[in-house]
Amino acid sequence: MIQSPLQELRDPEVTRYGLRVWVKRDDLLHPVISGNKWRKLKYNLMLARRHRFDTLLTFGGAYSNHLHAVAAVGRVCGFNTIGVVRGASAATDESPTLSDARSYGMKLFFIERDAYRRKDTPEILAALRERFGRFYLLPEGGANTLALTGCGELAQEIIEQTVQTPDAVICACGTGATLAGLAANLPAETEALGVAVLKGGDSLEDAVARLLSEAAVAARSRWRVLTDYDGGGYAKCSDDLLDFVSRFRARNDIPIEPVYTGKMFFALYDLARQGRFAPGSTIVAVHTGGLQGLRGMVGKLKSRGDFAWVHDYPTGS
Ligand SMILES: *Cc1c(COP(=O)(O)O)cnc(C)c1O
Repeated sequence: MIQSPLQELRDPEVTRYGLRVWVKRDDLLHPVISGNKWRKLKYNLMLARRHRFDTLLTFGGAYSNHLHAVAAVGRVCGFNTIGVVRGASAATDESPTLSDARSYGMKLFFIERDAYRRKDTPEILAALRERFGRFYLLPEGGANTLALTGCGELAQEIIEQTVQTPDAVICACGTGATLAGLAANLPAETEALGVAVLKGGDSLEDAVARLLSEAAVAARSRWRVLTDYDGGGYAKCSDDLLDFVSRFRARNDIPIEPVYTGKMFFALYDLARQGRFAPGSTIVAVHTGGLQGLRGMVGKLKSRGDFAWVHDYPTGS
C-alpha cells in the first residue's frame, strides 16, 4: 500500500500563530473507500480472508461512511456484503450513500431503531446468522481491535513523513477508534487530539480507553477528546461552520465536509487562535475523508452557491 500524501497547509489564518500545519491526506488513499474507513478495515479483511469468510456484515445509518466503505471494499476485494441499516426502508428517496452501496453489490437489510439499538446482543446476532448464514461481523463504524492496528499504520506514516516529530496530531472522532490507534502508536512527545463530532462526546474518552484495553495496548502518547466542537451533534451544522468549510476549501484547495473534517479543522483554527499551541509547534491534521457523506446534505446546501461543487462530487460508481 502506498502512503497517503502529507501536505503543508499554508493558510495564514492558522500559520500566523507561528505554527506549521500539515494535512495527512487520507482522503486520497482510495477514490471511493473513505480514508480512515480503509485503515480500520484492512486487517479485518485479511483475517476474514484467512478464515475463508465470503461475506461481510455490518451496520450503519443511511449516510454512513462506514457502510459505504464496506460495500466498496467488498466489491474491490471480492466479498459479498450485507448492510444492516437503521430505520425503516424508504425506497423512494434512498440516500446517495445507500444507492451507491447497493450498486456496489451490498444487500441492504433495514431494521427498526429499537432493534438497531440492540444490534450487538446475542439475540439479534443469532437472528442475523439464521437469516444470512456465516458472515464476518464488522461492528458499527468498524471500531474493533484490528481497526487500531490499521490506524497504527497511519501514525507510523506520519512519523516517517515528518522531519520533526509533530507536537500534536488532530483527527475527527466518531467511535474513537482512529484516535485510539493514533494514541497507541504515536510517540510520547506527540499529543493526540480527537474532535468529537457527535453529541455526548463525554463518553468518548471511555470508548477510547475501552478500545485500547480490548486491544491490550497502552497509549504511548498523551491523548484527549475535545467536546466543544460537536456543533450540536452528528450532521448538525451552523452557518458559521458552513462558512468555514467553504472558506477553507477556497483558500487551500482541499475539499472538506461539515460532518467530520470541517469540525476538526474548525477546532484546530480555534485552538490556534486561543494560543493552545506554543509558537513553533508542528501539528498534523488528519484528513479522514468522508466526502461522499456531503451528498446527503445537498438539500441543506442548495441555497448556497459556494457549495455548488457538491453536486459534482464523484461517487466512483
Ligand atoms: C468515520 C469517520 C470518522 C470517525 O472515525 P472514528 O474512528 O469512528 O472515530 C472521522 N472522519 C471521517 C471522515 C469519517 O468518515
